[in-house]
Amino acid sequence: MFELLQVDPFSKARRGRLTTNHGVIQTPIFMPVGTQGTVKSVSPAELHELGAQIILGNTYHLFLRPGLDIIREFGGLHQFSTWNSPILTDSGGYQVFSLAKLRKITDEGVHFQSHIDGAPCFIGPREAMEIQATLGSDIAMLFDECPPYPCEYDYAARSLERTLLWAARCKEVPTPGAKFGIIQGATFPELRRQSAEALVAMDFDGYAVGGVSVGEPELEMMAAVDNSVPYLPENKARYAMGLGTPPQMIEMIARGIDMFDCVLPTRVARNGTAFTKHGPLNLRNACHAKAKGPIEEGCTCVACRDFSRGYIRHLLKAEEILGLRLMSLHNLHFYLNLMSQVRAAIEGGSFSTFRTAFASTYRVRSADEEQE
Ligand SMILES: [Zn+2]
Repeated sequence: MFELLQVDPFSKARRGRLTTNHGVIQTPIFMPVGTQGTVKSVSPAELHELGAQIILGNTYHLFLRPGLDIIREFGGLHQFSTWNSPILTDSGGYQVFSLAKLRKITDEGVHFQSHIDGAPCFIGPREAMEIQATLGSDIAMLFDECPPYPCEYDYAARSLERTLLWAARCKEVPTPGAKFGIIQGATFPELRRQSAEALVAMDFDGYAVGGVSVGEPELEMMAAVDNSVPYLPENKARYAMGLGTPPQMIEMIARGIDMFDCVLPTRVARNGTAFTKHGPLNLRNACHAKAKGPIEEGCTCVACRDFSRGYIRHLLKAEEILGLRLMSLHNLHFYLNLMSQVRAAIEGGSFSTFRTAFASTYRVRSADEEQE
């Protein structure tokens, strides 16, 4: 399923190819997030134009709304949404723990109340895999418990035990596509190792580093990856869940990660934040009011090709939908194009140079600096 094509000689960065039921994915890759079966405000045709190879769907959200009966009637999420390329679905675990009300966790699974209408629901390992099979997911994630940050050792250890018990149950449920195991263990190197080794022994199609991007400092985030990757086989894809900013993704790639998903490009679009190679830019700032240039000079996205910063700023201030759409298209283009540059750099043996150049150019400015 995963072919390792090339490894960077100066870091752990990898160039790979992942084959799924709905097509081939070139890695490293960024996966736009389509929480409710849509990448917010962007159509499947636009996603293809942006060069998106795979998108992510949320099991928890789609299970609650529209519900499996409706998805089944349409023959799965691909047909329902008309996105005919690969889809990765999360297991629902993360949302059950972060969104649902009144949870009760047992070894069988999680009883909870829907955050939409309070209806009582249950998702266990078997249910999570069956839901993902109904969605027709190309890559299904195992049902896991994502411990919070910070987390005591004893809780993390007990939680990990349960997640491994669930992993064995998930493995037994047939799904149409691949299954990826999720490494947990919070901030404890020993638990990360145990988790990775146990999952690898069960032999899944790929492995994710979970429990990151849950509010921990960046050093802990990098440590979670460094404490997991050494125990993973070279010939399986590696996915860091819910990450991250552009510099974080580059650093994770250098640590041997192949896949990312993150809501940032579309989420910050709403606040008027655009990603550029010089760092994030806030288009709501007054300094852009009369700016005739594009969001980013040289960018080939629709927003930059046709529109000025001044006009997009006006749309954002007036809360026009087009403003949000243009910002989302630019940000997704930035993330996807960054991955394409990374792939080319690894192929050309120049990833280290690219990594250094990127880090020296990308700067997170303070609001005051932007106002100048
Ligand atoms: Zn652009």
